[in-house]
Amino acid sequence: MDPENIKKEYTNGEVTVVWQSGKCIHSGNCVRNNPDVFQPREKPWIKIEGSSTEKIIDTVKKCPSGALTYYEN
Ligand code: SF4
Repeated sequence: MDPENIKKEYTNGEVTVVWQSGKCIHSGNCVRNNPDVFQPREKPWIKIEGSSTEKIIDTVKKCPSGALTYYEN
């Protein structure tokens, strides 16, 4: 795997968000749809506790690049 393509997982116990940095096209959809969770200026940039599981899943589904995916725990 390209060292620039970092893969990280964030979970709240109900859903796990998988982030693959190399796929992100910086559309900003995630930040617009759910700014309480997706905060690119912060570290870690995904605050998984910031919104409901349902809203997180909805947001991840709107990622156009596949950089964000999820699975239910
Ligand atoms: S929605 Fe997906 S492609 Fe767009 S900025 Fe977020 S992670 Fe990157």
